[in-house]
Amino acid sequence: MLGFLLARGGLKVVVIEKHGDFLRDFRGDTVHPSTLELMHELGVLDEFLARPHQAVSQFGGGFGDEQIILADFSRINQRCKYIAFMPQWHFLDFLAEKARQYRGFSLRMNTQAVDLIQEEGRTVGVVARTDDGQTLRIKADLVVGADGRASIVRERAKLEVIDIGAPMDVLWMRVSRKLQDPLETLGRVSAGAIFIMLNRGDFWQCGLVIPKGGLRALQDEGIESLRRRIASLAPFTSDRVSELSSWDDIKLLTVKVDRLRTWYRNGLLCVGDAAHAMSPVGGVGINLAIQDAVAAANILYEPLKEGRCSEDDLRRVQERRTFPTRMTQGLQIAIQNVIIKPTLESDKPISVPWPLRIFQLVPRARAIPAKIMGVGFRPEHIRTPEVTS
Ligand SMILES: Cc1cc2nc3c(=O)[nH]c(=O)nc-3n(C[C@H](O)[C@H](O)[C@H](O)COP(=O)(O)OP(=O)(O)OC[C@H]3O[C@@H](n4cnc5c(N)ncnc54)[C@H](O)[C@@H]3O)c2cc1C
Repeated sequence: MLGFLLARGGLKVVVIEKHGDFLRDFRGDTVHPSTLELMHELGVLDEFLARPHQAVSQFGGGFGDEQIILADFSRINQRCKYIAFMPQWHFLDFLAEKARQYRGFSLRMNTQAVDLIQEEGRTVGVVARTDDGQTLRIKADLVVGADGRASIVRERAKLEVIDIGAPMDVLWMRVSRKLQDPLETLGRVSAGAIFIMLNRGDFWQCGLVIPKGGLRALQDEGIESLRRRIASLAPFTSDRVSELSSWDDIKLLTVKVDRLRTWYRNGLLCVGDAAHAMSPVGGVGINLAIQDAVAAANILYEPLKEGRCSEDDLRRVQERRTFPTRMTQGLQIAIQNVIIKPTLESDKPISVPWPLRIFQLVPRARAIPAKIMGVGFRPEHIRTPEVTS
């Protein structure tokens, strides 16, 4: 997104991606109302919404036998009053396609950053390796680490990480989908288990939340025990759980919550998960990453254009984005501690946790989680120009 915005403003940008495509299961599928608003500001919303997606205007889950609605996006003050569920690789392909229209934009796939180039205390580029074994030295006025929660950029820049911690990991797996299955994304919470199912057309992308480090114990119980568990959480899949034939069909996604004390060095900035790894709680990490990108473009566009991007400019990006990051991570930690950890440790029947009862009693209150999830704290808007000549 940052590459797109800077190239749209007439700057020269090289984006490198270590994989050959954007096809990754783990990123989440949520395109938030705030991102749709940005698409509108960029004049590409209709084109974007013409791509297959699922518009979800309410978000809730089953706690034991009770079904509740937690967030109601129809109550928020945004153009699109829903979350668009779209596999993130479609979203990223769309952004890349739009960005390629600008002369200054170049996207190099199969190109992995492996080190930074430093000169006189300033980062002046990256060393990258391509799939066919070439080593590239890419020089730049600014290096942006948007390389996720295992960021090589932040590690090589020796930026200090504050580890906040998460009590869970996620097991990620696929089960085929039949026509008569429910359409919408499903969430189910029961004693010792939290289970999420994303509709991806002909299959369900399923996430089973487990206590951190709990995979070994599950493996000791055997794959049949996992299949029974999935079938009890989503009974309509009982005729298909045998598709999970071995542990090779199940990926462990390690959940991390952390943030950098300082997001920048002279000539270098981290954004998104590289600056603050987000928990999957609430499905908001993508929104924060996009908002960081927009804020960075707004603040850095002029200094970059004039070749005078300083540490002070980079500090302004961190200052702008620290409040939303801390607030969102703070809420994620509260939910992890008050709801997720006790649920995963419980062997008693689960009912709706007391803090969430408010959303049953006062439907209007569902606008609050909808605003936090769908828009977030301190939403950003496109302030950079389009330069076509
Ligand atoms: C299990 C799980 C489920 C989640 N579900 C959701 C959800 O539903 N909604 C939501 O909003 N958030 C969700 N999140 C959080 C979300 O995935 C992240 O917050 C978000 O993807 C961060 O975006 P990013 O662009 O900063 O990093 P990433 O999405 O991690 O992207 C980093 C990119 O950099 C590339 N890369 C990495 N290293 C290098 C390198 N050395 N050189 C070149 N390229 C490199 C990677 O291949 C990748 O394409 C979830 C997280 C987890 C763990």
